[in-house]
Amino acid sequence: MTQARILIVDDERTIRFAYEKLLQKHGFDVEALPDADTALERLGPGHGFHLVISDLNMPNKDDGLGFVKALREMPHNQLLPVLMLTSSTESSDVVESLGAGANDYVSKERRQQQELEFLARVRSHARTGILQEQLDKASRTDELTGLANRRHGTQRLKEEMGRSLRYERGLAVCLLDVDHFKKVNDTHGHQAGDEVLVEVAARLTAVTRDSDCVIRWGGEEFLVVFPETDVEEAAGIVGRFRMEMSGTPIAVLDGSEEIVVTISGGVAEHEEGDTLEGLVARADAALYKAKETGRNRLLLAQAGELMPIRI
Ligand code: GH3
Ligand code: MG
Ligand code: MG
Repeated sequence: MTQARILIVDDERTIRFAYEKLLQKHGFDVEALPDADTALERLGPGHGFHLVISDLNMPNKDDGLGFVKALREMPHNQLLPVLMLTSSTESSDVVESLGAGANDYVSKERRQQQELEFLARVRSHARTGILQEQLDKASRTDELTGLANRRHGTQRLKEEMGRSLRYERGLAVCLLDVDHFKKVNDTHGHQAGDEVLVEVAARLTAVTRDSDCVIRWGGEEFLVVFPETDVEEAAGIVGRFRMEMSGTPIAVLDGSEEIVVTISGGVAEHEEGDTLEGLVARADAALYKAKETGRNRLLLAQAGELMPIRI
């Protein structure tokens, strides 16, 4: 079971400390921050928290309500459980907190009975947060290979295209396809074919960097997004991958068979005015040509021309 990670936001140091200790004592992984702005920064994409516990008055009620509203405007935080804390028990505070986007509301009074109730609420919301995280991960991942699936990959590429324009940094993509993969299935069976795809994905992940995004684009087709990378560099990376694939057999079916598969691919770079479809189509056209002209090769689409990538 995943350990629940909780972020506490409260402007009063002693309260922050008390809640932090209490929750740590009960097995939670806790971080505590003093204000909404710092917390919003901490809650960027991939933050990994399962529950946010926030004070309502920090120092004013509007700060607590504003914090929850701002949090809910972040697409990745729309389902993140938020528990509001306050010293008041005014019904209007409850209504406003829930209206702003909080999931629940508890009073700060810490008598024994309320502490148990508080912990029960925390556990319940943290469980939801963990399940949310698992669902979110599953919706982004290709089940067989563990890579980004096409939907998530498309989203990532869209974001990277935006960043590339804003910061005037290079962005390259590469579309790769296993050669004659149908023959692998026909000769060795579908299970062996699956194992080959898993190994192709693993090798591709190993040669690329953490900042690159490897996507299972289709059956035996992979798209690699290289942020902040010029095409020459991207070509070098996929070139090494192609060499490794053709030179190192893949052991399948508990090592009973070995298969060599080769890869063809097309690399293209993001140009001003590009649409996502246009960029991928240029890589696809280069891939198509690589297939047509013999396979086990990579072509680079640049300035309207196709050039072989040799390393
Ligand atoms: P080419 O060199 O032109 O790419 O030929 P190919 O045989 O690789 O291409 P084709 O598109 O004709 O066949 C792809 C095959 O990949 C057909 C399909 O059954 C198989 N395939 C797609 N997804 C999977 C999968 O998840 N597992 C397995 N084992 N096979 C798959
Ligand atoms: Mg193929
Ligand atoms: Mg194909």
